[in-house]
Amino acid sequence: MQQSVNSRVRDIYKQEGYVYARSPEEIAETYGFSRVARLASNENPFGPSPLAVAEVQKALATIHRYPDTGGAGRLIQALKDYHGDYEFVTGVGMDGVIETCIRVLVNPGEAVAVSVPTFSFYGLAAKAQGAEVIKIPRRDDFTVDVDTFISAAKNAKIAFLCSPNNPTGTMTSLEDVERIADALDGILFLDNAYVEFSEIDYRSLMEKHDNLVIGRTMSKVFGLAGCRIGYAFVPSWLKPVYEKAATPFTVNTLSLSAATGALADKEYVERTIRHVRSWIQKFHDICKLPVLPGGANFVMIDTAPMSGDECAARLAEKGVIVRSCRSFPGLADHYIRVCVGEDWECEQFLSGINQIC
Ligand SMILES: *Cc1c(COP(=O)(O)O)cnc(C)c1O
Repeated sequence: MQQSVNSRVRDIYKQEGYVYARSPEEIAETYGFSRVARLASNENPFGPSPLAVAEVQKALATIHRYPDTGGAGRLIQALKDYHGDYEFVTGVGMDGVIETCIRVLVNPGEAVAVSVPTFSFYGLAAKAQGAEVIKIPRRDDFTVDVDTFISAAKNAKIAFLCSPNNPTGTMTSLEDVERIADALDGILFLDNAYVEFSEIDYRSLMEKHDNLVIGRTMSKVFGLAGCRIGYAFVPSWLKPVYEKAATPFTVNTLSLSAATGALADKEYVERTIRHVRSWIQKFHDICKLPVLPGGANFVMIDTAPMSGDECAARLAEKGVIVRSCRSFPGLADHYIRVCVGEDWECEQFLSGINQIC
């Protein structure tokens, strides 16, 4: 086995890949719980929107056909109804959009810049394409130093900036994002996976910048993580070449239908945002450990002198799954990331964390 891996597999796939959360079934069984609080993956705890479920049920009778040819026409129309008249591309999660953008824009050996600590998939996807990854450190308080970012990213074909940032929650201001987009020749990929929970709206920047891509996902506030759908606002020149580079019929019929339904359910989104904001406030008020400021549906918590791994393991014993931040590139080992779940899950977390610290 090892011999086959050594001689046949590309070097990058011999290294650590994407890190998944521990399984709730395993933790429930190990520690004897009937249910565990799932706060490690930043999902929407409310279940899918009923409108999304209804659209999927309608679409079931058509799954013997390929989905809408190439362009995911119905979803694109739903996105235009939701956001206005922008250009959109879609993918298998925003992860799929990130991967396809790198495939379109970056030759092997060229540079991709990443502001760290952050979401690990940018670097993994870039390396898989043979790119050189430049890590640009954030300041000690995890804000972005714009001048450092611009000078480090100036030769990059794509620079990734996440706001609100995963896992720190940190926001980057509209003005700072605009300064970076103005200064770069390459593409600025602004990852807005959590932007709906914040009070910033970067969409207006699309009008003035032909090197800006804003990535979005249906996995978080829209409650469709299991459907794997992402999309991006793109400059118009990028859309046709993106579509050439994408896998044919990328997003499947059921996912396209679910997304169309979810985008129509404004009430579900508003209810989610209200719930998240009120619990984020309680995390700050009640948790005895330092909770970092942020604009997402999760918070990062400093667990020192405990390590993030130890804190996550002790919370698992109390039936709570959180994310140790150890695997995030460029971050010290004493942080956990905790998202807002249902009321009972948040309560179980707060009582657990305050017992172990
Ligand atoms: C969750 C997440 C994504 C994308 O998720 P998909 O499920 O692939 O759409 C992208 N970026 C960040 C920072 C995320 O946390």
